[in-house]
Amino acid sequence: MDQIVSDILVIGGGAAGCFAAIKAKESGAEKVLLVDKGYVGKSGCSKFAAGSFKCFIPDEDDYDLWFNKAVEEGYFINDQNWTRVHLDQVFDRAKELDAWGLTFLRDQAGKLDRLEGQGSSDQRPIKTMMFPGPMLMDVLRKTVHKFSVKIMDKIMITHLLHPKGDRTSVQGALGFDLKTGEPRIFKAKAVILTAGAQGFKAHYAYQKMVTGDAHVMGLRAGASLANYEFTCHHLTCVDFDTTGMNVLQGVGARFVNGKGEPYMKKYDPEYGDHACMNRLSAGMACEVILGNGPIYYDFSSFTKETLTYFQKTLPIMYLAFERAGYIRNGWIKKRIQWSSVNMGNVGYGGGLRINTRCETDLKGLFAAGDATCGPASGVEGFCAYAIPFATTSGAISGIAAAECISDAADMALDQEEIQRFMEELRRPLRRAEGVEPDAVVLRVQELLFPLEIYIVRHEKRLQHSLDAICELRDEVVPLLKAYDPHYLRMATEAANMVRCGELFLRAALARRESRGSHLREDYPAIDNENWLKWIILREGETGRIESTMEEIPLDRYPAKPDRNRTTHPIAEVMEGKWGYGNPTD
Ligand SMILES: Cc1cc2nc3c(=O)[nH]c(=O)nc-3n(C[C@H](O)[C@H](O)[C@H](O)COP(=O)(O)OP(=O)(O)OC[C@H]3O[C@@H](n4cnc5c(N)ncnc54)[C@H](O)[C@@H]3O)c2cc1C
Repeated sequence: MDQIVSDILVIGGGAAGCFAAIKAKESGAEKVLLVDKGYVGKSGCSKFAAGSFKCFIPDEDDYDLWFNKAVEEGYFINDQNWTRVHLDQVFDRAKELDAWGLTFLRDQAGKLDRLEGQGSSDQRPIKTMMFPGPMLMDVLRKTVHKFSVKIMDKIMITHLLHPKGDRTSVQGALGFDLKTGEPRIFKAKAVILTAGAQGFKAHYAYQKMVTGDAHVMGLRAGASLANYEFTCHHLTCVDFDTTGMNVLQGVGARFVNGKGEPYMKKYDPEYGDHACMNRLSAGMACEVILGNGPIYYDFSSFTKETLTYFQKTLPIMYLAFERAGYIRNGWIKKRIQWSSVNMGNVGYGGGLRINTRCETDLKGLFAAGDATCGPASGVEGFCAYAIPFATTSGAISGIAAAECISDAADMALDQEEIQRFMEELRRPLRRAEGVEPDAVVLRVQELLFPLEIYIVRHEKRLQHSLDAICELRDEVVPLLKAYDPHYLRMATEAANMVRCGELFLRAALARRESRGSHLREDYPAIDNENWLKWIILREGETGRIESTMEEIPLDRYPAKPDRNRTTHPIAEVMEGKWGYGNPTD
């Protein structure tokens, strides 16, 4: 079969992939190819991001405040070299976006109009730049074209390819055309994985296309993953999927419990309703455990001006609220039921391990954006870190890949491997009887989404879910059936969700302490004596997941924690009141 040859292959065309492709071209790579299983410009979380761009501005902001806050919210899990690189470069990326046509919100004097939303307090104000969300990817697709990057839409990549006789390098990828089902083989001296996160197709807006494909194909090829125990939490209206928490927090919405009581100060005394996601999410869960549910978002402080700002910054969500009858004639419903959602690692959390040049463990394989382990952020994507990190890491990966191809040997791909992967890929299409992908997706969600698994964790419950997910992996995934290329995509995504569920549960079981969003009822202490470690996951010869611990090199980093054990602040509030949902209870 013919190979589609380029110098650099970029897999996934969200903000990270577009920046990678543009910068690779700008740095001298001749043939850059961008492939996406959707349509670049209309696919990926980047298309639907709510327009919050957390950007450090050198002439306006206090560097130490931003750096230390990022590490504090990251609970010292950050690769602090990455945090510095990100802060150093993010404003340059914002200026480029501005020059390419993205309009950041400005006041009448033309000064950037920045919002004090999530993670901002009176003592430590941190401001977010805002842009009209849907505009970002229109601008990026146009710019990618302007730089003569070739785009192939509707191609799903399923496997990375090694050169013959060398499992330590990657020089290609295998996938299939989503319209015809034809297999496609790509050959390139460098491959950049920017295929996004694992969102477990959760009840949250516009992320059901990111199903951990990058994580699973990277893992299989021999790359390592980190931070998989740290899940990203998002909050949404219960009736339908919504987005834009940073804006709503910034303009004064607040959470109340079923008794109408505001409660967030109890769980986060400094930030209260401006808290970052993992504390908002834990606060919700604890109120429910205490019998104070359901949770509402209270909009009673909203004025006409607030609603105008809401409409300008979150046009899609505003329209949804109007259609639901929640907004009418300049009036907004006082309280709307709200809930937390497990979003895997959209925006922050686990993924491919990279150094500050976006190199993975494999020669020729780079990664950026949500496909990575979010090294700049650590435990929590400090406020709206995600799009900004996609731009900085995307740019770095493109530049580094362009540098690497100049001395990369051009080797033949391993044909035996290609045959094996093609056979594996087509298997669901050949099966006469089998299991529907949706059944597998639903089962994964049942095993991961209950609050007693992803918010308040305990060994018994995590192990129970892990046993069930391994059974799903061994007994059900091999029976997945596909009728056509669309179903083949669904089947592959479902299988990847099972694998990522296993990665999450194994990492969450391994970390025997509490830290940020990793809240262990059975290990309530933040243990800075024993657990300032990264958990690294790899795939062994037989496909088994192997985990190792690596000390975080804090002696070489500027921000240093106290080496002690303290009760996690949420566990402190809940002391003696846990014990929710154990399988044996
Ligand atoms: C609703 C919502 C609102 C958000 N709001 C904000 C915000 O306001 N500010 C902020 O900073 N962050 C926000 N985030 C997070 C942010 O959108 C993401 O972190 C960021 O867009 C990640 O960019 P990315 O390029 O790494 O991945 P994505 O934009 O997700 O792009 C990944 C691309 O890879 C493609 N792909 C996936 N698998 C394959 C495959 N197998 N083969 C080929 N292509 C593949 C997908 O189709 C997609 O186009 C939000 C997220 C969501 C879901």
